[in-house]
Amino acid sequence: MTVYAPPGTPDSLVTFKPRYEHWIGGEWVKPVQGQYFEDISPVTGRPFAEVARGTAEDIEAALDAAHKAAPAWGKTSTTERAAVLNKVADVIDANREMLAVAETWDNGKAIREPLNADLPLAADHFRYFASVIRSQEGEFTELDGDTVAYHYAEPLGVVGQIIPWNFPLLMATWKLAPALAAGNAIVLKPAEQTPVSILVLMELLAGVLPPGVVNVVNGFGLEAGKPLASSKRIRKIAFTGETTTGRLILQYASANLIPSTVELGGKSPNLFFADVADAKDAYYDKAQEGFVLFAFNQGEVCTCPSRSLIQESIYDSFLSDALDRTGKIIQGNPLDTNTQVGAQASNDQLEKILSYIDIGKQEGASIAIGGERVDLGGDLTDGFYVAPTVFEGQNSMRVFQEEIFGPVVAVTRFTDYADGIALANETLYGLGAGVWSRNGNIAYRAGRDIQAGRVWVNNYHAYPAGAAFGGYKSSGIGRENSKHALSHYQQTKNLLVSY
Ligand code: NAD
Repeated sequence: MTVYAPPGTPDSLVTFKPRYEHWIGGEWVKPVQGQYFEDISPVTGRPFAEVARGTAEDIEAALDAAHKAAPAWGKTSTTERAAVLNKVADVIDANREMLAVAETWDNGKAIREPLNADLPLAADHFRYFASVIRSQEGEFTELDGDTVAYHYAEPLGVVGQIIPWNFPLLMATWKLAPALAAGNAIVLKPAEQTPVSILVLMELLAGVLPPGVVNVVNGFGLEAGKPLASSKRIRKIAFTGETTTGRLILQYASANLIPSTVELGGKSPNLFFADVADAKDAYYDKAQEGFVLFAFNQGEVCTCPSRSLIQESIYDSFLSDALDRTGKIIQGNPLDTNTQVGAQASNDQLEKILSYIDIGKQEGASIAIGGERVDLGGDLTDGFYVAPTVFEGQNSMRVFQEEIFGPVVAVTRFTDYADGIALANETLYGLGAGVWSRNGNIAYRAGRDIQAGRVWVNNYHAYPAGAAFGGYKSSGIGRENSKHALSHYQQTKNLLVSY
């Protein structure tokens, strides 16, 4: 067990700057309008840095830098770009603990996540796209005897990227790695709640990325995000965030015919078929963990298994075991590697979760465990902590249908296969889902019948770089990770050559 020292104390691995500017053209650049906002640590509920408050003028400055850098970067060989991406991965690995402390302080998540999952995955994504770009092959086709059609994958040029607060470094990586591999220059806007860890990384990468290839403009959605998504000077906008914001992004970008990919919200079903309880063995344990652990890592995961659907015949016993486990979850200091549930990312998010807990009670759902704010005392007393919460109720209730984005799971029962699939699909969303059955036939069929872009079968919550990730229905347009993501950052050039 390790408890990392909080930033601001002598033993901390991180020394934050009191003030963070924008990162433009490979250096710190002050906001044109001279405004800053406070970055608050959810761990303590107190501000720890000021951050430049970007506006349209700052976006223009970043676009200038990106346009300056894009032609040379786009012409580098795939071998050169792959070498840069591999170096980025090395820098992330070499600074993993320091970046994990920065991420936890800014976002509130239990440090075991950035340390053991988010940052190793981020490094792996850069390495993955380094290898994908090197192995991408062109195509040619002989036509009509004396004409050849050559197809090339060319970069788009300058692209915009807007990310949310739940995985600040990993969401940045999912967007930066394929965009850089394809040869684009980027203007990225982090979420206003969690701008700092990506800025710390940018400074570390100063000697690795050519100036202007990645630019970061901080600020709020309407002040900095909208001018980026509305700009005529980008060739693509990639967005991750709420479904309502995604609709706006599509509107802004469509005015300029700018291609968009949007990764949006979810309300993921997690189906437990009766045979899961055939024995209380290692498989049963894994299924229990699939219910509990991945729902309660703050619950701020777009694919969080926030709707558990349990087959009727095992409902009482399976839920009772899951509640026992839920009661044993360790909630505490996010900088302690033993902690499983840390803080919610912001006070707004905390209040949203508490208001949904009230909504659930009012609509007649019953609380099986949790349901309140947690005071961890001492320095953490004003931090944003909510107890892992389980509701029992009906799939039509708001707590089953609306994204709460907190450690709140809504549970109900299903009768047979058809009922389970129907309930799983009764949602606006289609991002993630889980299926648990010892019967390969049931598990496979359910995986195909559920309307979601990612279905975990007998596992949950893995995000390998090589597996396409994205939503059906209102959960998004486009895919991240895998070769599918690369295609969103390239355009096809056809040369039709006669000889
Ligand atoms: P959000 O939509 O409020 O904000 C996301 C980003 O968009 C932020 O950087 C914000 O400043 C910016 N933004 C807000 N309004 C904007 C506007 N009008 N124009 C341009 N930019 C604007 O989302 P959030 O609350 O930060 O993140 C949580 C949401 O993200 C949840 O719905 C979650 O499911 C979703 N999410 C989805 C995925 C996925 O891959 N599908 C992954 C992570 C999070």
